[in-house]
Amino acid sequence: MGDLLSVRNLTVEYRTRRGVARALDNVSVSLPENTTLGLAGESGCGKSTLGRSIIRLVPYPGVIVGGEIIFSLRNDIEYDGQVIPKGEVDLVTLPEEAMRKLRGEEIAYIFQDPMTSLNPMITIADHFVELITTHNPEVTEEEALERAGEILDSLGILPERMTDYPHQFSGGMRQRVMIGLGLALRPRLLIADEPTTSLDVIVEAQILDEITQLKEKFNLTMILITHNLGVLAQHADNIAIIYAGRLMELADTETLFENPQHPYTKALLSAVPDVRKPEKKLAWIPGAPPDLTKPLEGCMYHPRCPMATDRCRVEQPPLVKSPSGGLVACHLY
Ligand code: SF4
Repeated sequence: MGDLLSVRNLTVEYRTRRGVARALDNVSVSLPENTTLGLAGESGCGKSTLGRSIIRLVPYPGVIVGGEIIFSLRNDIEYDGQVIPKGEVDLVTLPEEAMRKLRGEEIAYIFQDPMTSLNPMITIADHFVELITTHNPEVTEEEALERAGEILDSLGILPERMTDYPHQFSGGMRQRVMIGLGLALRPRLLIADEPTTSLDVIVEAQILDEITQLKEKFNLTMILITHNLGVLAQHADNIAIIYAGRLMELADTETLFENPQHPYTKALLSAVPDVRKPEKKLAWIPGAPPDLTKPLEGCMYHPRCPMATDRCRVEQPPLVKSPSGGLVACHLY
């Protein structure tokens, strides 16, 4: 099966008063259809910037300054009398009007905080009807409600709750509604950005299981962004480890957990609790990620890396094939 998405040498900068912060530096990842790619790393490492770049909603003052985001369109996109034929398009250069159609119809994004995306003044049913009929004027209100009911049912929300307002739902139920809205236009790519961070662990586990079931049901391809590697162990096919805006390691999930290569990946994994090994001592990574407005020479991880050599302090490691079969950016390989 081919790639649905291919991010190539993507570079994103935030032009702040304190200087230019390179949030992503030449990042390349591919996403075969019907697979889940996990993006992991500490807060501020660039994983959300990568997700937001794909839908071209990098928060201000972020700018995509280089690279390509190649997406395989399922249908022609029509806007303002123009047609973009189906097939591969570069999302970086796509006109904004076309991107607006593509968001929701081809790519859905689930944000961390559902309350910021729901309108407190209208019912859940109205959210669905408005979204579906705006994008598909030929769909009747009745049909839109039927589609909404089917999706919400898969997420454990009873049809009678559709006439409720967002504030009448718990945090977990609101996030389920957001997931349902994300799927309402039948997208092919779902980007879930820390979708369960603000929820308790039981609700988190339930929602992640539901997302994975919906992925199968709707033939979705998915990007799951989280700082929690334990979540990715269960739900991702491949994992990209990002640090200070650079791709450090990319491997299939089993390989990454069984045979991590990059010192940063190893450090992240040593901080993951394992209920099967209660005797495991949890480690932490000393220091903090670098200030991206003052980029370091050499490997961005060198001030925190126990394996760093003089070469690491002056020369940036290229991304190369790792002995485990994935990709790694480290002078040890
Ligand atoms: Fe550590 Fe050097 Fe590898 Fe960077 S390149 S992770 S500093 S060993």
